[in-house]
Amino acid sequence: MVTTTKCDHCGADANFVIKKEFDGRLMNFCCKGCLGVYEMMREAGLAGQPPEAPQAPEQNSSKNKR
Ligand SMILES: [Zn+2]
Repeated sequence: MVTTTKCDHCGADANFVIKKEFDGRLMNFCCKGCLGVYEMMREAGLAGQPPEAPQAPEQNSSKNKR
């Protein structure tokens, strides 16, 4: 059985996989170019936000300020 890892940026088969962790999630990239572009997009806020990350209820935390 052959396990093919796909690039998390472009979706191409990643033969030489570069692994990098973002926000505790391990991402796979086929090349340094995809890794670089993904990092840039992420910093610019263009990369998809992780749907499982809920917005922090800041109103409540500020109300309970010590
Ligand atoms: Zn790629």
